[in-house]
Amino acid sequence: MALSERTDKYGGMLHASDIKKSYGQVDALRGVDLSVNAGQIVALLGRNGAGKTTLVSIVAGLLRADAGTVEVDGVDAVAQPGEAARRIGVAPQETGVYRVLTVRENLTFFADLAGVPKRNRSKQVDAVAEQLGLTDLLGRKGSELSGGESRRLHTACALVHRPRLLLLDEPTVGADVATRQQLIEAVGGLAADGAAVVYTTHYLPEVEALNADIVIIHEGRILDRGTQAELIERHHRGGLWFTVEGEPPPGVLDGLDVMHRQTEGDDQHRFLVGGDVRMADLVDRFGAQASQLVSVERNLPDLDRVFMTVTGESSEPDEQAAS
Ligand code: ATP
Repeated sequence: MALSERTDKYGGMLHASDIKKSYGQVDALRGVDLSVNAGQIVALLGRNGAGKTTLVSIVAGLLRADAGTVEVDGVDAVAQPGEAARRIGVAPQETGVYRVLTVRENLTFFADLAGVPKRNRSKQVDAVAEQLGLTDLLGRKGSELSGGESRRLHTACALVHRPRLLLLDEPTVGADVATRQQLIEAVGGLAADGAAVVYTTHYLPEVEALNADIVIIHEGRILDRGTQAELIERHHRGGLWFTVEGEPPPGVLDGLDVMHRQTEGDDQHRFLVGGDVRMADLVDRFGAQASQLVSVERNLPDLDRVFMTVTGESSEPDEQAAS
């Protein structure tokens, strides 16, 4: 299935189409489509400089695109930025809480800014504080919070008006395990209540924990999209990794699909062979030279490797295949 066909099935709360953005000579986004349904969590996965923050900033209305359209809950975000903004909650990468205001005042201020009616304000502030473990800190000033507490407040400020589209740019940077867990649970809860979520992170276990739909972005383009299982199914090559002391004996590699080889240390060679090779067959091939085999392991399906394969920066596949 072509990527365009695969992404077509995702409509709904956010529909960004053919977004382009350059900073001088740098083409940060080269025609990106991103659609997210209500109740869906999309993890934007990409290396540093891939274009994630640029995309999130454009969708949030914080940055103007050079080309393309953004629709949020049916509202044209370029023509009606105010209308769109009311539906969006955004927590940019840099935390931005008011240091002189208390936690409650910060949350109330953001609720007010987002147009939450006065009668609902304190109820929503209390609810989001509870959700992110801030209840005991409501009276504390922004300047008196730890890094992780500030991060939680920063995210809470994006949630307090119960947005239909939530944009979180690396929300767990610098957070401890408990904070991470709280944030992930809060995000999962919002999606379960029908919010659409775009979540950028470099931390793959989070993507797994969120059970997110994964969008791989690389050098300003979306290269693939799917669940973890779908991406692994499409890109995982199976096979075995093995390390050999010295050169492998003549004939050992004959007929094998050698996808990768690299030299390790002084005189060790590491190989990845694809397909259905069994460990025992490989050892048989070495025969009397089996002691040359330092290690053999199955090439397990792994999101990290799939990501590297898709972005072409793999320690595996195609262009690096053995000569
Ligand atoms: P990271 O994971 O490091 O946060 P990212 O995927 O969010 O990266 P962006 O911040 O969107 O990437 O940057 C995309 C590209 O645009 C990079 O090459 C970056 O250097 C460039 N870029 C971003 N902001 C600016 C700017 N204000 N001026 C010039 N170039 C910029």
